[in-house]
Amino acid sequence: MICPRCRKGLVKESREGEEILVCRECGGMWLHPHQLNNLLKESGGDVELCSYNTLPEDDRYPMIRCRECPDTLMLKINFLDYSDIIMDRCPSCGSYWLDKNELANMHKYIKQVEEGSHQVKDFSAYTLLTRLSRIAYSIFH
Ligand SMILES: [Zn+2]
Ligand SMILES: [Zn+2]
Repeated sequence: MICPRCRKGLVKESREGEEILVCRECGGMWLHPHQLNNLLKESGGDVELCSYNTLPEDDRYPMIRCRECPDTLMLKINFLDYSDIIMDRCPSCGSYWLDKNELANMHKYIKQVEEGSHQVKDFSAYTLLTRLSRIAYSIFH
C-alpha cells in the first residue's frame, strides 16, 4: 500500500474500532467512505452534505491519484464552512485523503470554536471533525 502523496508505504493504525491507513513519512491519513460513515454514526452527520467542491488552486498540495482507482484524480473538497480544511476525495470510490496540513487546520478550527472566535453551523460535522482530529493526534503525536 503506497502513499498517494509521497509514494512511501502506508501503515495500519487501529483507532476507535477502525483500521486507518496512515503515512508516517508525510503525515497524511487515508479514509474509506465506510470508515467515515462509522465515525459519523454517533453524530448523525453527513460529510458529503457539509463539504463542497473547490478549486485545485485553493490547496497548497497538488492533486493526487486515488490509490484504489487507477487513473482517477482526486478532487479537492472544502470541509465545513472553514476554507482552510481542504481534503482530497475520489469521485469514483469516495475515499478521502487528509494531508498533514489539513489535520493541523482541523486542530486550529477546534481551538477557535472552543475560544468562541468561530461559530459552528453544523454540529454533526463538527463532531466528526473533533473525532478525526483526536484520531490524527493520537497517531502522530
Ligand atoms: Zn506519504
Ligand atoms: Zn477511488
